[in-house]
Amino acid sequence: MTAQLLKGRQLAKQLQAELSESFAELATAAGVQPTLAALQVGADPAAAGYLRAIRRACQGVGVALRPVELDEKSSPEEVQAALTTLNDDKAVHGIMVLEPLPDHVDSSQLIDFLSPAKDVDGVHPLNAGRLAAQRQPHFVPATPAGAIMLLEDADVTFKGKKAVVIGRSDIVGKPMALLLLHRHCTVTVAHSRTEDLPSVAREADILCVAVGRPEMVTGDWIKPGAVVVDFGTTYVGNSVKGDCEPASVEAAAGMFTPVPGGTGPMTNVMLMHNLLSAYRRLVSAS
Ligand code: NAP
Repeated sequence: MTAQLLKGRQLAKQLQAELSESFAELATAAGVQPTLAALQVGADPAAAGYLRAIRRACQGVGVALRPVELDEKSSPEEVQAALTTLNDDKAVHGIMVLEPLPDHVDSSQLIDFLSPAKDVDGVHPLNAGRLAAQRQPHFVPATPAGAIMLLEDADVTFKGKKAVVIGRSDIVGKPMALLLLHRHCTVTVAHSRTEDLPSVAREADILCVAVGRPEMVTGDWIKPGAVVVDFGTTYVGNSVKGDCEPASVEAAAGMFTPVPGGTGPMTNVMLMHNLLSAYRRLVSAS
């Protein structure tokens, strides 16, 4: 068997064109430029790389990006004050806090100060709680939301299927497990303390991997014909590696999201989708 490749790049392009039109229409009617703020503390290369990707995503749909760059030595109070200023700024419709933050700035404590109405990456506890409780409206973290859209576009059946999610981060693994559960999968969440991970993975009709260990999952972990979603994005030299060993996983799976070009492009477009919801709500409320 050779897996059908689920290419997020193609779907993302199509969605980007739709979003672009929606932003243009709303912006003309409201007379307000849609704006995303990105708060960065220090100059971590991963945060800087993410900022570049966000800039491209904004340019692709006609959104203004407002980067707010604070010195690495900024105190937690100074970072919090910058976030509060963005919360209160009516010209800002969405806010991203770029990770990683310096060690002395506690990410969870900072996120508590983020306005849930501008939390386009769905990281505030109110949005995470609303997702867990299946209450609308909420922002769903962009990466798992994009993966679900990719699977739905490929007509993947969820109801009654066994899903295994490896990884339990608040931004990928945990919300992915909830989104699958809400679609009536029977969900197992695995992590670094899971015993006999290959056997757990082999149970999965839908296997999602969000670990950050290049090519950890090999073809012998895959139930033949399973749908495999690889979120892994690790830079090794000049190339980007997923969490799945592509040749053997592709040979065993029925569908597979390649790295690069699978889940990654969907993340940025879903971020813009969330920003559109935030923008629509904020301009209609003002
Ligand atoms: P994270 O916060 O570091 O979480 C990693 C998870 O993997 C943790 O739950 C950890 O378990 C688990 N884990 C670590 N080693 C393991 C092992 N040997 N066996 C089983 N589980 C193990 O990472 P993340 O933010 O979720 O990101 C995961 C990957 O997705 C990274 O490569 C990241 O770059 C990528 N990512 C991709 C996108 C995209 O757009 N495609 C977006 C965001 C992130 P414990 O909880 O027990 O520590």
